[in-house]
Amino acid sequence: MQEQKKLYANVIVDISLEKLDKTFQYSVPDELTGELAVGMQVQVPFGNRTVTGYVVELTEEAEYDVSRIRPLDGIAEGGIAIESQLIALAGWIRRNYGSTMNQALKTVLPVRRKTKEQKKRTLELLLTEQEAAKQLALLENRHASAMARLLRKLMKEKRLDASLAARELSVSAAVIRRMEEMGILRVDSTACYRNPVGSLPERGAPKTLNQWQQAAVDAVIRDYDQGIYATYLLKGVTGSGKTEVYMELIAHVLEQGRQAIVLIPEIALTYQTVMRFYSRFGERVSILNSRLSAGERYDQYLRAKNGDIDIVIGPRSALFVPFPRLGLIIMDEEHETSYKSETVPRYHARETAIERARLAHASVVLGSATPSVESFYRAGCGEYRLLELNRRVEEKPLPECEVVDLREELKAGNRSILSGRLQELMEDRLKKRQQTMLFLNRRGISGVVACRSCGKALQCPHCDITLSQHQGGRMVCHYCGYTVPLPKTCPSCGSAYISGFKAGTEKVELCVRERFPDARVLRMDFDTTRTKDGYEKLLQAFGNHEADILIGTQMIVKGHDFADVTLMGVLAADMLLYANDYHAAERTFQLLTQAAGRAGRGALPGQVVIQTYAPEHFAIRTAQSQDYEAFYRQELEYRRMLSYPPIQNLLVLLCTSTDADALEAACGKLKAFLEAAANGRFQMIGPADAAVAKISDVYRKVFYLKAADYRELIHIKDETEYRLKEGYISKNVNVQFDFNPINGF
Ligand code: ADP
Ligand code: ZN
Ligand code: ZN
Repeated sequence: MQEQKKLYANVIVDISLEKLDKTFQYSVPDELTGELAVGMQVQVPFGNRTVTGYVVELTEEAEYDVSRIRPLDGIAEGGIAIESQLIALAGWIRRNYGSTMNQALKTVLPVRRKTKEQKKRTLELLLTEQEAAKQLALLENRHASAMARLLRKLMKEKRLDASLAARELSVSAAVIRRMEEMGILRVDSTACYRNPVGSLPERGAPKTLNQWQQAAVDAVIRDYDQGIYATYLLKGVTGSGKTEVYMELIAHVLEQGRQAIVLIPEIALTYQTVMRFYSRFGERVSILNSRLSAGERYDQYLRAKNGDIDIVIGPRSALFVPFPRLGLIIMDEEHETSYKSETVPRYHARETAIERARLAHASVVLGSATPSVESFYRAGCGEYRLLELNRRVEEKPLPECEVVDLREELKAGNRSILSGRLQELMEDRLKKRQQTMLFLNRRGISGVVACRSCGKALQCPHCDITLSQHQGGRMVCHYCGYTVPLPKTCPSCGSAYISGFKAGTEKVELCVRERFPDARVLRMDFDTTRTKDGYEKLLQAFGNHEADILIGTQMIVKGHDFADVTLMGVLAADMLLYANDYHAAERTFQLLTQAAGRAGRGALPGQVVIQTYAPEHFAIRTAQSQDYEAFYRQELEYRRMLSYPPIQNLLVLLCTSTDADALEAACGKLKAFLEAAANGRFQMIGPADAAVAKISDVYRKVFYLKAADYRELIHIKDETEYRLKEGYISKNVNVQFDFNPINGF
């Protein structure tokens, strides 16, 4: 009989400490070897006491002298703490995405920091209605406009959150103090948990769902009530009422005393969206976003754990809110790339949500108008259950979509950013006093070189991926390392008009102002929205029809409903097609569909103009006809041909070092090791220079491993990690893993 290896448990005894990495090692008694799992609570000797701790790792490696390691006493009795679940989830993240256990723990558990207890200050009106009216007249007479503003608001609401009043009405603390002295109002201070939203809107009655919405709700609830917790893909065209479906499902889960997490990409976490949830669920809702301080985050964590809230809305990290009886996870816009972490551990919130739901016996609903190819594929395989909403609410038509060929514009002598057709329609909207949005995509275009005559970008002959321009004019393929010098003329048509893309939103604004001098124009990009409220203010101004034209990047196409927008112009649709990444067509299709969905949400029908150099490209044609299935079929074919996800899985090893020679040597050794290990289990490409081959003097190289079975990639990741631990390559070289990466490297 083979001797059983001795097992050790790494245990943390206090997870509220900053030091999650402070673990203590105990040996596992043989009779517990099969039973113990990461996350479990155990009783351990600690000094001369016995304390309860959590197992964060099980290993066969003793960290110090075996004779000094004490055995743990046993598995703690009683209910399973929510922390156990999250630690188990961290273990899963570590295994599936590659990181240390400590990094994974820090991802799922919040760090307690001492923060000052916050006083919530409320303003209360002390005057009767008549007195207040008299006072208001007085203040207005004296042109005390700040005081008048605040008083008017108080007359409507009686009580107001002080910080909110200060922010929204720009009333200073001095003004509030003065009004307190005048006996107009009273300031009430009480200690409280900080709720990041101030006052709540009126509670509205839920909308009556239409038959398709109701069918989707029923499908989930039927399973849920039988204890079947599955993953659903809710595919619903823009404006089909997905959010109402989410809210109905949440209401059902809440009725049974369970909680819900709603994941929304941060960029779409707008005032409008948030208020819809508040007006339905009131103060049981809490919002997490990246602007919260560490203290505020921790408060939210406690409120969730203590049962003060039932719904959390937030980006990726909201997934780790410690609801003890989680019943439902909603992931809106499930195709969004921001759901993938770009730092170690590089987890994807979709898979992680499904794992968390599995641990908690909860359901998952993924929603999108343009599901990721991965998710739709899984729905096709029966892994997810597909639910569809194919019509807009109230039968509003989808907007009419035209494609303009920019090569023809150039031939006709129009060098403006705006095509003739788009100018014509903008003119028309200005006359009708309707609004226009112009969308300029800026993502993934740096380094792309394309021909302005034929529209072709320089491509790698081996990979069907666009080449990127590197310093010194070299064109490099980031997938295989193929390199050519920058050509002087277009290899396809011989034209000399070959160059990188540069037009930014500012340039578009200039061009629009020149062409339409009387139009009121707003521009929204990272520059104009840098201040905390800049983003909301711009949106509100546009929503109030204080401008005719809104120019912007990605930010303008997510989560806003502007009833007066009847024209959407997409200025250069192909920029994304040139991105050096196999997702390029998918991203293009998604963005165009979403941009198109912004038009015609009010009573008036919408129109969309897509400007492109590649009108025949399938991603553009299918976006024009808003035909997801047609897009999906072609895209999947392409993925199949090149063995990209979801057909196969991809693991990228990113190797970095400040020492170019050490990196070179390490990659040589890794290559030999990976080649020997591959043996038909996976396919290996590389090493090649990363997309950015050097960042602040750190050199970067990548390996690509492909396998049909994800588990093969986990194996090779584990084997590589083991080698690295053993000192197989130079300590000066760092290796990171990225499974099914979202962006190129
Ligand atoms: P999606 O999330 O699919 O884009 P929304 O949930 O935002 O769609 O719904 C689009 C608009 O239709 C919103 O203004 C919403 O309030 C409204 N709406 C949704 N469902 C209904 C319904 N059953 N009856 C009336 N209006 C609805
Ligand atoms: Zn050309
Ligand atoms: Zn290549």
